[in-house]
Amino acid sequence: MNKEEVLERFLSYISIDTESDASSPTTPSTDKQWDLARKLHQELIDMGMSDVTIDEHAYVMATLPSNVDHEVPTIGFISHFDTTPDYTGKNIKPQIIENYDGGDIPLKGSDLILSPDYFESLKNYIGQTIITTDGTTLLAADDKAGITEIMTAVKYLIDHPEIKHGAIKVGFTPDEEIGRGAHKFDVEKFGADWAYTMDGSQVGELEYENFNAAGAVVTFHGKIVHPGYAKGKMINSMYVASEFIESLPKLETPEHTEDYQGFSTYTI
Ligand SMILES: [Zn+2]
Repeated sequence: MNKEEVLERFLSYISIDTESDASSPTTPSTDKQWDLARKLHQELIDMGMSDVTIDEHAYVMATLPSNVDHEVPTIGFISHFDTTPDYTGKNIKPQIIENYDGGDIPLKGSDLILSPDYFESLKNYIGQTIITTDGTTLLAADDKAGITEIMTAVKYLIDHPEIKHGAIKVGFTPDEEIGRGAHKFDVEKFGADWAYTMDGSQVGELEYENFNAAGAVVTFHGKIVHPGYAKGKMINSMYVASEFIESLPKLETPEHTEDYQGFSTYTI
């Protein structure tokens, strides 16, 4: 597999801003997600995939037909093309670090530093090529890295028909980052016996269970009174919020739990 081809593909996908928006009721939640959806649709057609479709909600699907005579289960590969609204994904200026030496990586558009002292796993990639943001945007590797992997893999299989395989389905979805990626995914149309979501973190990692969570927004209303007349009247909402947080089980938090133990967490 050609590294330059992988890089070029990834960089072309991250150059398109596809930030999703939880406050939008539509699917996709933002119009700009169509830009990448249409590009992927066209690329799948151009590389010779079969049954390439894009539906009214921007879900892109395609098939690489089986090249064996016997029955083989159909497997699918899925990834999402939106990026999180937590940080901007517009005008991404990636830094490409070849032959990583295991040291600090300054994100040159900001005063941020990606350091193995903080992110120990960086040490696993010494000698490899690392792509980072310059600190002014996110990188959008989540999940354009997944899309790149899938597109490159199916292209490789098309170019190498000597590799035998059953039917392979490919699906790209909008709005995963706002929890709505699967909502309008047509499982029947996709037609896979099993599918894998390419949205992990490390090479070799396979997650086979899913995580479920619920969220709530709690608003604390205080009562404003001049401090000189406050006795018995003023309610400081910060104190009430802190009392609420204190009342949550102290050890049922992500930093204290593992395996199937439940937890709660909060942001202010
Ligand atoms: Zn993701």
